[in-house]
Amino acid sequence: MTNIIEIQNVSKTYPGAIRAVDDLSLNVKEGEFVTFLGPSGCGKTTTLRMIAGFEMPTAGRIYLAGEDVTDLPPYERKVNTVFQDYALFPHMSIRENVGYGLKVAGMPKSEIAPAVEETLSTVGLLDKADARPGNLSGGQKQRVALARALVRKPKVLLLDEPLSALDAKLREAMQVELKHLHQKLGITFVFVTHDQKEALVMSDRVIVMERGNIVQSGTPDELYDHPASPYVADFIGNSNRLYGKVVAADTDQVEVQVGPHKIRSTPGQSRFSVNEDVLVTIRPEKVRILNQGEDPGDCFTLTGKVQDILFHGSSCRVEVEIEPGTLFDVDVQLALALNASNLPASGDDVVLAMNSEIVSVFRLSEDTVR
Ligand code: ADP
Ligand code: MG
Repeated sequence: MTNIIEIQNVSKTYPGAIRAVDDLSLNVKEGEFVTFLGPSGCGKTTTLRMIAGFEMPTAGRIYLAGEDVTDLPPYERKVNTVFQDYALFPHMSIRENVGYGLKVAGMPKSEIAPAVEETLSTVGLLDKADARPGNLSGGQKQRVALARALVRKPKVLLLDEPLSALDAKLREAMQVELKHLHQKLGITFVFVTHDQKEALVMSDRVIVMERGNIVQSGTPDELYDHPASPYVADFIGNSNRLYGKVVAADTDQVEVQVGPHKIRSTPGQSRFSVNEDVLVTIRPEKVRILNQGEDPGDCFTLTGKVQDILFHGSSCRVEVEIEPGTLFDVDVQLALALNASNLPASGDDVVLAMNSEIVSVFRLSEDTVR
């Protein structure tokens, strides 16, 4: 597949020497749904605005469909943006709001009408064509904003936190709607969010950003199962964090001493040496509490005492003290736990079993000690 967007060594420094984007390179394939994910201030909006042409890079080049657009103004680029605040014109009908951009661009009326109809039908708002924005719900207004961007038939749709003004339920519904819209249209979506759940649900690929650059790019399950750094492990999902020392390392296994426990991991790209200080991260829902006398099979085990059990609705978080002062969280799906009747009680001694493949080990650096 061809690259619809190519970002080559792009930096953006704002007045006052604020380096919002720092030597970022990225390719986006035609038809992909990619999401920039990261905390506020990491440079997501700036990157999107440079793709759209609203901001000029301080350095680097941007290509759209093979053409160098770095010096082109926004209206000469085949991209369109949906912003967080989708300021609709209150005195215009939905039809007029959606057609406005085409009218300004000089398209004849006879062509605007069918284009607007088609787009309103795509976002499911044909029956609201003559309503005013004031009479629409939050979700409907959001769909008008989408229609306004889509009516110009962009090759790439840029979406900057478009759902952040919606309440949680509606937001989830819109996430699914956007995903279906993407499948239906087949155009490229570049989405920005600081919400990891939103990114995981919708995207083909998630680009995790930190301080103006990309720290990891991958499918949602790659990022979740194989975070490239503790920052990613922390930002996406929950992780137990344990500090320890490498006691054995070879090409297919690393063993880390954490207090009285030995934790095994399958090394990824990193190579470790004996005596190195490391950080270990383990997802709470990938660990099992064994039944009395159960054989752990290929898994390694940690022993501990249950401190507390927190009810989370569909799951329970079991807090296990694995050495004095160190708690280890295990999330137990209640449906499974009840079948197996293996939900422990506070004060119980338990054996935790896990596969070495779910354990991530990171070399300690300034970043990991934060
Ligand atoms: P995000 O969208 O991830 O929250 P932004 O791209 O908006 O991040 O901002 C990145 C950095 O650039 C922040 O430190 C922000 O304060 C700064 N910044 C953004 N826009 C401007 C601007 N127009 N002028 C000066 N600094 C800006
Ligand atoms: Mg932003």
